[in-house]
Amino acid sequence: MYLHGTSTINEQGHLEIGGCDTVELKEQYGTPLYIMDEQLIRQRCRDYMDAFRATGMEFQVAYASKAFCTMAMCRIVEEEGLSLDVVSEGELHTALQAGFPSARIHFHGNNKTPDELEMALDAEIGCFVVDNFIEMQMLDAIAAEKGLKPGILLRVTPGVEAHTHEFISTGQEDSKFGFDIGNGTAEEAVKLAHKLAHVELLGLHSHIGSQIFEVDGFQVAAQRVADFARQLQQEIGVIFKVINLGGGFGIRYTEEDSPLDTAEYVHAIADAVKQQFAGLEGQLPQIWIEPGRSIVGDAGTTLYTIGTSKDIPNVRKYVAIDGGMTDNPRPALYDAVYEAVLANRADDEATELVSVAGKCCESGDMLIWDIELAEPIAGDLLAVSCTGAYNYSMASNYNRIRRPAVVLVHDGESDLIVERESFEDITRNDVVPARLRSSVSVQR
Ligand SMILES: *Cc1c(COP(=O)(O)O)cnc(C)c1O
Repeated sequence: MYLHGTSTINEQGHLEIGGCDTVELKEQYGTPLYIMDEQLIRQRCRDYMDAFRATGMEFQVAYASKAFCTMAMCRIVEEEGLSLDVVSEGELHTALQAGFPSARIHFHGNNKTPDELEMALDAEIGCFVVDNFIEMQMLDAIAAEKGLKPGILLRVTPGVEAHTHEFISTGQEDSKFGFDIGNGTAEEAVKLAHKLAHVELLGLHSHIGSQIFEVDGFQVAAQRVADFARQLQQEIGVIFKVINLGGGFGIRYTEEDSPLDTAEYVHAIADAVKQQFAGLEGQLPQIWIEPGRSIVGDAGTTLYTIGTSKDIPNVRKYVAIDGGMTDNPRPALYDAVYEAVLANRADDEATELVSVAGKCCESGDMLIWDIELAEPIAGDLLAVSCTGAYNYSMASNYNRIRRPAVVLVHDGESDLIVERESFEDITRNDVVPARLRSSVSVQR
């Protein structure tokens, strides 16, 4: 496993994160356990803020909270001066409960319900990223009733789709999100937003993909969005204060991944926008971005205990852990690949090729295919790195497995930030109708 952030191997040969021995963390909190490296999260936040300060442009960096949304995480992001993206009333609730300043909250989503719009309006959040005409009309109507005038960005699809090393330039984009620039829908949306009395059009938004390792997709998207903005600015006199270029900055999961420095992405985007607005001094928009994965992804490690194994001669050896697709659905969903090490024997040479299986009743519940480990046996601890993004936030209770605890480690201290789910949590929402009660004794 690649050691990054504050991860090291201590004198006992144990993996240590944030100055905390993972063997001790297991004793204190049990497994499976998500371990979040606070220093690394803060470093990632600062890398973005510093890179933008160096461009001299006005900016906002909004953490896309869907990657890992808990109240403690909202506090860290707030302290680092970032803004926050939410996509549902649940994420909004989490942010508000954490005392996140509502003016720095942005609401996304392609199907915000009237209740969600109302909740966000009542909280007076910073802006809505409006996805379609129905939402725009609905927001305008609800805002009118409340005597409010929320700021909005329009989500546009610039005809660029990026994934890892390539980007695809498409004429008209087949996407459930946003207003298409190519077919004129985006222009129509700008004109409508400009006319509506109860929304304030702040700017445009685009998000081209995820886990992107090259700057060219961002550059082309930035050029197209900025070009579109400048044209409409000249045509109908609408001033765009904000161009938001979304998230998607890649991280290193395995040695095959080679992410760029944060500053490279930021400078490429800033330069592309500046170029489009050259000669229009005084009208240079602010740039906003929305990193999720790259803020928390490599700051997370999941710790498991190894249990059973099954050796099929000449085929493979399966080694099972006490979690799986319930705490990390990404391998099953996207064939995502992870690295791992035995946390209690991190110095031992990895000599045995095994495949790590989860404990769910699904053949597809495989955490890692073909990884060399140091002859794992029952009771060993397996640490899987780079699980900070889209693991806890996508975790489920399949097989009624309780969701793991999350601890935040920093300078030799560990703090529980999400408790392990209890058996009560598992049956909390179950209701047994009276007519089914006579034959069972129901305990709550
Ligand atoms: C998911 C998402 C992000 C964050 O993407 P990452 O790949 O985690 O950086 C940002 N903006 C929007 C609109 C998104 O849907």
